[in-house]
Amino acid sequence: MKYCEGAKAGLEISLYPARHDSVFPERYSSLEDICPLFYIRQVKSILRGRYAADVSRGVRDDVGILVEDGQIVDIGRFEDLSRERQGVAVLEYDGILFPSLINAHTHLELSSIRREKIRHSDFVDWVIKLVDTRTSMLSFDVRPDCARAKREAESKGTGYFVNVGNDFQLNRSLGDDQLFEFEQIGINESSADKIFERAAEVAMKDNDGALAIHAPYSVSPRLMKMLKSFNSKRGRVTSLHLAETADEVEFVATGRGRMVDLLNYRVPKWEFHPAGVSPVEYVHSLGLLDEKTLCVHCVFVDDEDARIISKSGSAVTVCLRSNLELSGELPPVDKFLKAGIRLLIGTDSTASAPDLDMFAEVGAFYSKFRNIMSPISVLSAATSDAAIFLGIENRYGSLSPGASSKVVYLPFDGKKEEVLEYLVSNPENKMTVGES
Ligand SMILES: [Zn+2]
Repeated sequence: MKYCEGAKAGLEISLYPARHDSVFPERYSSLEDICPLFYIRQVKSILRGRYAADVSRGVRDDVGILVEDGQIVDIGRFEDLSRERQGVAVLEYDGILFPSLINAHTHLELSSIRREKIRHSDFVDWVIKLVDTRTSMLSFDVRPDCARAKREAESKGTGYFVNVGNDFQLNRSLGDDQLFEFEQIGINESSADKIFERAAEVAMKDNDGALAIHAPYSVSPRLMKMLKSFNSKRGRVTSLHLAETADEVEFVATGRGRMVDLLNYRVPKWEFHPAGVSPVEYVHSLGLLDEKTLCVHCVFVDDEDARIISKSGSAVTVCLRSNLELSGELPPVDKFLKAGIRLLIGTDSTASAPDLDMFAEVGAFYSKFRNIMSPISVLSAATSDAAIFLGIENRYGSLSPGASSKVVYLPFDGKKEEVLEYLVSNPENKMTVGES
């Protein structure tokens, strides 16, 4: 109730932007009554945190962050900032302020589907049931569910999404804080040109979108090359699911195994020429790996695969909770680190992961790899490193002037030296306190 009243008050304020500075502090004695999401959007204010942290500057005490019009204007010691900016409203946060996280792989369009609903015996069974479930929902408007899922993830600290999907209109209607990758599938070489032309025609109208390759077992070499080339000409990132299951490894090498059942189920007549090599070597031989390629999953890779990925400059997005659900295997993060591969973190969709909560994903990641990765390196994969790879480092991944004011607040009364460990401990309580 209190929260709703705050939200209403914030909305009212945003109608009169010119009066914010003078009116706001007197009118509301308790700033906690105001819904920060509405309040910060338009009003110049200082967010005061017991701590503020990001990857490049570490943890700092008693920091002030001046935000206005959806972006960070200044950041520094609260004492200094408040002296320089007298009269600006101050919002106190008794805990940690941290940049919003980047979800480097998800499918927002699947947000109507819960993983509990897809009982499966293996990966192929899961894909078949997922496709059946989607087909049975074709007459439903799933947009409200997808928009709700995105909003919920945002309110819990995600600032930006790499969102892969087949429904252009639906995904584009979900807002701008995403790299939308229009995903294409087509195993037959003969249909490559037609599929590409249709996809390119749609994607051309999109200012910053990209075309995604579903996977090497579902897209022909010709189509994969055309999709990659389209993105390369425009400097856009290409996502592809890669080496996700042992079935994929078998199929790419030999043309046999469980993937045959999947293709038989989906495609009346299909063709595939076994590559005789690993999925990573296969896509590398097609020229698909470079510093603008985002390889998603990479659970089944060996040292040589890791070396190839590293040398190409491609990054790997780890979606650990989805991998555990679908194959029960962990990605070989030790191999990634040894090879020097840039790591990103994603949730994948709710059809294979419990939720789109990036702090939960980061927490799961750290709990599995804490013996080989520090909290700061895991946080980097979810913020600054991801931002640099995606070319959005001016806007996301750090608490710097010019960056989005989507700042995450996590209540915390522990010591400064415990902050980073807390951030990777899957904290239950967190909220986004700014909006761009
Ligand atoms: Zn995926």
